[in-house]
Amino acid sequence: MTDKLTQAEVMQVRQSVKEVFTVNINGKTEHVAIIEQPDDLASHHQLSIEDIEKHHIDTRILTVMMTVYDNEQIAELTGYYLDYMIIVYDYKSFNSNQYVRQALVSHELGHIMYPTGHLTEQHEVTEQEFKCDEYAVQQCGKESVLLMLNIMRAEGIRLGIHHLVPELEKRIIYIKRLKDDNELPPGEGKQGVFSSLLGKIKNLFA
Ligand SMILES: [Zn+2]
Repeated sequence: MTDKLTQAEVMQVRQSVKEVFTVNINGKTEHVAIIEQPDDLASHHQLSIEDIEKHHIDTRILTVMMTVYDNEQIAELTGYYLDYMIIVYDYKSFNSNQYVRQALVSHELGHIMYPTGHLTEQHEVTEQEFKCDEYAVQQCGKESVLLMLNIMRAEGIRLGIHHLVPELEKRIIYIKRLKDDNELPPGEGKQGVFSSLLGKIKNLFA
């Protein structure tokens, strides 16, 4: 499959890899990359880049995590051995608030333990979503997670995505009810969890 890509396409893939790090989840080291792929992410959400720009969507809410099933193929493409990829729309915007960033990354990493998730067909919040938010609270504190959820809720209201709002309200209530011994000041997560493997990658082939 990779041999069908042109050199320019391969370069494009490699430049989309913004960060590579390892995370220890239940005693296992997982290799994770943050990848900026606006086109793929837009189509994943059945949106066009034009829609996203026209409505000034806060693209951080589009972030998703993907499991890598073919490590060798992905290594060939990206230059890195990876287990998971966090796909972001715009890396600069993704990093614009460190608390929100930490909450987003931690929530997505939570899906390593609590896979699938998101909404059922009846638009009910699944247990996995609560668990991933709870994991994020353990990593970076209630305030960061609430900030993330409130941004998502505000975008849901503003954009008229009606099913999203009650879902987020349930998640917000769940976090607010968590015992305070889970709570850490914003940004003061268990830093040891994230150990930088290769740091930020600057245009590998530029
Ligand atoms: Zn989730």
